[in-house]
Amino acid sequence: MSETVERHEFGAEVGRLLDLVVHALYSDREIFLRELVANAADATDRRRFEALTNEALALPSDARVLIAPDKAARTLTISDSGIGMSKEDLAQNLGTIARSGTRAFSQALGEAKGGEGEDLRPSLIGQFGVGFYSAFMVADRVTVTSRRAGGEETWTWASDGKGSYTLEPASREQAGTDIVLHLKEDADEYLESYRLDHVVRKWADNIAVPIAIRDAEG
Ligand code: ADP
Ligand code: MG
Repeated sequence: MSETVERHEFGAEVGRLLDLVVHALYSDREIFLRELVANAADATDRRRFEALTNEALALPSDARVLIAPDKAARTLTISDSGIGMSKEDLAQNLGTIARSGTRAFSQALGEAKGGEGEDLRPSLIGQFGVGFYSAFMVADRVTVTSRRAGGEETWTWASDGKGSYTLEPASREQAGTDIVLHLKEDADEYLESYRLDHVVRKWADNIAVPIAIRDAEG
């Protein structure tokens, strides 16, 4: 590991949430794509909003969310030209549970776990949304490379979802974010364009930003 790579531990709640998401919600795991596309669309909306008062942040005219499977590399990449994240944003947004929504979800999931009767966990996804960490349902390693609109630096956040993450300097031409999922052995279906198209139509129909799915390579 080079000197510039910093390793950080996740907040305690993140570890617990990751464990629950990865192990409890297997049957609904396709919703990871809904969560990541929603985040990309939110980031695009936020940049559009900030650009109203700061022209320098204007969205490129071809702004869209791109979903790109790569069969040879066994990766799925979700890219946007949204607001992006600084180094501090990456650590704060992806390394801690800063949001009350996720905390509530984590609690409800814990309560719905053991005990007798119906397993309520799957329906909780619909109620709360699992967010970014749902990526670890299908990926054993996730890297997030991001450049904040108006910022100079690009950083890569990377984690295997097991307790810690790293941050290191990277490069990216334009502001925005690339989320790269290194797919688990049993998640090959998400390398198929038709499968991705099906999930996007089912879950991301009401997203205002254009979504493009690149044909699988390899
Ligand atoms: P939520 O979307 O409910 O806030 P998530 O777990 O989905 O929660 O995402 C956590 C946070 O990470 C977001 O609030 C946002 O600040 C940041 N984030 C995630 N994906 C992106 C992205 N593609 N671009 C910019 N910020 C992002
Ligand atoms: Mg989200």
